[in-house]
Amino acid sequence: ARSASGVDDPSMNKAIVLLSGGQDSATCLYLARTMFDEVQAVSIFYGQRHAAELESAQAVAKLAGVTHETIDLPVFGGIGGSDLTRTGTEIRGAGGLGDAQAPGGLPTSFVPGRNALFLTLAAAVAVRHGAKDIVTGTCQTDYSGYPDCRREFIDAQEQALTLAMPSSAGPIRIHTPLMHLSKAETVRLARRLPGCWDALALTLTCYNGKRPACGECPACTLRVRGFAEAGERDPAAV
Ligand code: ZN
Repeated sequence: ARSASGVDDPSMNKAIVLLSGGQDSATCLYLARTMFDEVQAVSIFYGQRHAAELESAQAVAKLAGVTHETIDLPVFGGIGGSDLTRTGTEIRGAGGLGDAQAPGGLPTSFVPGRNALFLTLAAAVAVRHGAKDIVTGTCQTDYSGYPDCRREFIDAQEQALTLAMPSSAGPIRIHTPLMHLSKAETVRLARRLPGCWDALALTLTCYNGKRPACGECPACTLRVRGFAEAGERDPAAV
């Protein structure tokens, strides 16, 4: 919250939500609005091929009526090592572990270091705004065994970021409300959150950045299955 003098009000209970433009982070944004006095969205883009995600994030933040900040990180895409940062490769395969495998048995959609970096940037934004809380849609239930999606990593990162920041700024808390939910449970949660269903219509989950979604990539497969299991129609489906 900004006081009349334009200074962040430290008495406000404020959270930073990492908003990718996908289904999970949009649900987290609407959930965070029920948990905190004030919520601010941060989107981080790293030269991934789907700028459509950015448009989704902007539209969701606008609908939610929250301040939205985007951080451009093209250098990260330059490191490469993932299908999500390359152009010209279609990502296919079923949900969970995809057909194509990166070293270590991980899907080729795994971006090494992404979550660690994103949480560090979110913490930097949080501290700048006098916030201690970060909310992220990280989920270990469905996500292909990404090591940085496990709560074990989040706990360690929370501790590292608290140590990295001035003691007056912490402790930093990283909330992962979707961590142990199935996709169907996340759909049901979104149904209960006022306004969230309309926001889901604006989200883009597809790894291939297609609108309408390709329906075949691992992210699309998980999304389709989640709505089907919840007995709901995806509001983003045409
Ligand atoms: Zn897709």
